[in-house]
Amino acid sequence: MKIGFIGLGNMGAPMARNLARAGHEVKGFDIAAPCPEGVECVGSAAEAAKGAEVVITMLPDGNILRQVAAEIIPVMEKGAVFLDCSTVDVESAREVARQAEAAGLRPLDAPVSGGVGGAEAGTLTFMVGGSEEAFEIAKPLFEVMGKKAVHCGPSGNGQAAKICNNMILGVTMIATCEAFALADRLGLDRQKLYDVVSTSSGYSWVMNAYTPAPGVGVPSPADNDYKPGFAAELMLKDLRLSQQAAEAVDADTPMGQRAAELYEAFVEREGGRGRDFSAMLPRFESRRRR
Ligand code: NAD
Repeated sequence: MKIGFIGLGNMGAPMARNLARAGHEVKGFDIAAPCPEGVECVGSAAEAAKGAEVVITMLPDGNILRQVAAEIIPVMEKGAVFLDCSTVDVESAREVARQAEAAGLRPLDAPVSGGVGGAEAGTLTFMVGGSEEAFEIAKPLFEVMGKKAVHCGPSGNGQAAKICNNMILGVTMIATCEAFALADRLGLDRQKLYDVVSTSSGYSWVMNAYTPAPGVGVPSPADNDYKPGFAAELMLKDLRLSQQAAEAVDADTPMGQRAAELYEAFVEREGGRGRDFSAMLPRFESRRRR
């Protein structure tokens, strides 16, 4: 397929590289990042989008997505798929989809989970909003870049699934770190807590697949001095998106709200920026109740 790829950062570069390796013709554009192997880099987003059957965007946020969309929608071929894989607010995703549809394009919002490691290995999970027809066209590309793609319903539903998932993740990480810190004060060995919880009703992806305590459970960023992994500021971004969405539809999400407040304090005032989101554990270790 002829693909335009806009946003060749930590995630976009390996995704574009995998598409090129699989034999697709990829034209790329980024305002700053270097050109990935196998990709033909061009001078503007519009140039990358022109003539492509599928245009993929992997950008930092909803405002930048809106700017890039305004540039590329007018030059894209009618019937082409506009596949946004960035994590953005539901409202921006739905607005960009409306504009793309009005121009005769097929929009999909398809945020991913799996991080940079998943992007490099081609094992991402895509959560996809948009028409069935567009989903079927993009399917072979999801199969190159990932291992699973779930069609979640109409435009915006991919982003909705992503922020709901990551709200659970943020809350669970905090709960798990609190429990380790409480166990420490109670004189309960961390390995014993892991042995019990990982096979009891407190188990979770965080405890079982991303254990936040160094030397305990599975290897994770905790064993690498909390180098990300998934940086705390990205967790904060997703928690903020979940709270923005909750406010817009009047949903009561007190745990998500508290998680957003804790990650905000961690990132902005407590040295968490640039550390993995599981570095909440050393944060709790060093704190007292009062
Ligand atoms: P990144 O900052 O490494 O990459 C974004 C790229 O977009 C940068 O290279 C930047 O130069 C480029 N860019 C910015 N404005 C542009 C414009 N107007 N035109 C063209 N390029 C432009 O970020 P990332 O880690 O690759 O993340 C991208 C998206 O994926 C984000 O929405 C993020 O939330 C999401 N995401 C990231 C991860 C992760 O682990 N890094 C995991 C899942 C989802």
